[in-house]
Amino acid sequence: MGRSGVNAVLNLASLRSLIENYPPDDTNLDFPFSTVSNLTEMLEQAYGPRGGRGLALRVGRACFNNGVRQYGAQMGLTEMAFRLLPLPMKLQTGAKAFAELFNTFTDQQVRIEEENGNLLWHIERCPLCWERRASDPVCHLAVGLLQEALGWLSGGRIFNVEEKTCIAAGDKTCTIVIDPSPIF
Ligand SMILES: [Zn+2]
Repeated sequence: MGRSGVNAVLNLASLRSLIENYPPDDTNLDFPFSTVSNLTEMLEQAYGPRGGRGLALRVGRACFNNGVRQYGAQMGLTEMAFRLLPLPMKLQTGAKAFAELFNTFTDQQVRIEEENGNLLWHIERCPLCWERRASDPVCHLAVGLLQEALGWLSGGRIFNVEEKTCIAAGDKTCTIVIDPSPIF
């Protein structure tokens, strides 16, 4: 998006105070869900639904690489004992650890479930679509973040990850379905 793109979206979202003044990288809970969902909505407004979706996926990947990944290492997900686990167990253990991370350090609530061989990432309280209404799932940032997390856990494999239900569309949870068999 470049700096001017970021500034334009912050302007659209009436968040001028954040221009060139990004929030600190810490674990304080002072960045509200309403701001997160407002920003994802403005991305779609500025770049269209398809463009906004593509950008949100990339933002999600960046969120993993520049933020969440360091916690994965802290949680032991880079240790030899973990690396030697078979892939399905690795994904299951990794997903549980990352869900726990969100549940502990943010107000986002995530529950993992297994169903028909798939891993279900249920976001029960979701910052991405907070107070939004939409006809289709809109939590693309979470999909990008999970795609990147799965690639990292598996040493670069690519998985089918899809948001099937969304609170913004009237569903009970934002549920992202992960097929644990890699495509590549
Ligand atoms: Zn959501």
